[in-house]
Amino acid sequence: MSKNGSGLHIVFTGAPGCGKGTQARALKEKVDICHLSTGEMLRAEAAKGTPLGSEISALIDGGNLVPDEMIIKMLSSRIEEDDCKNGFILDGFPRTLPQATVLDELLEQKGIKLDAVIEIQVPDEIIMERILGRYACMTCGEGYHDKFHKPKVYGVCDKCGGTNFYRRIDDNRTTVQNRLVNYRALTYPTIPFFEKKGVLCCVDGTGTIEATSKKVNVILGITQ
Ligand code: ADP
Repeated sequence: MSKNGSGLHIVFTGAPGCGKGTQARALKEKVDICHLSTGEMLRAEAAKGTPLGSEISALIDGGNLVPDEMIIKMLSSRIEEDDCKNGFILDGFPRTLPQATVLDELLEQKGIKLDAVIEIQVPDEIIMERILGRYACMTCGEGYHDKFHKPKVYGVCDKCGGTNFYRRIDDNRTTVQNRLVNYRALTYPTIPFFEKKGVLCCVDGTGTIEATSKKVNVILGITQ
């Protein structure tokens, strides 16, 4: 398997709050390829306050997925950009079978094979506790948790020194319950799809961030 920056193409998948974003960011530090989070791309669009942005906000805040057509258009043009030439880490995409099929076709056209689809497995009870306690630095996006990952100095981001933090509007109990229902109904069917293609790797995501990272690195043959 290719490693350390030369043409890696990875997908992180799993239920909301399983740690895909955290693991994608950790992997990016090691391999320096493009990290594409569709959730972040959509939140950036929503923040513009345009009619499209408001439509996206309403869907996200209710725990629903945005339409396949919209996300496919967004992602397929994004992976054509220069910074994806050496590979990418997809985080939050594909999230439905039609999205998985389009990704598969797009990559086939480009002669690219996914190195791995890493499913991070975490039971629902743990997910709820993780999501309800999580928050992030407004300046650099570094993620924290009320119980499991506090900044070293109270109120100051370990990474950038920022002092403003935010919680996602969709990180509330009712919305998370809906996100879990949607995960099972719409995203979970992509798991057997990738399993049949021989690229699925499952990782237990219940341990610490570092423990999960180690398992991911072993899968990808990253030794440093
Ligand atoms: P999480 O995995 O923790 O739920 P994300 O940041 O990946 O969070 O996504 C947040 C929200 O953005 C999702 O609940 C959904 O509404 C929307 N979203 C992200 N990626 C996709 C996608 N590939 N297809 C449809 N909707 C998406």
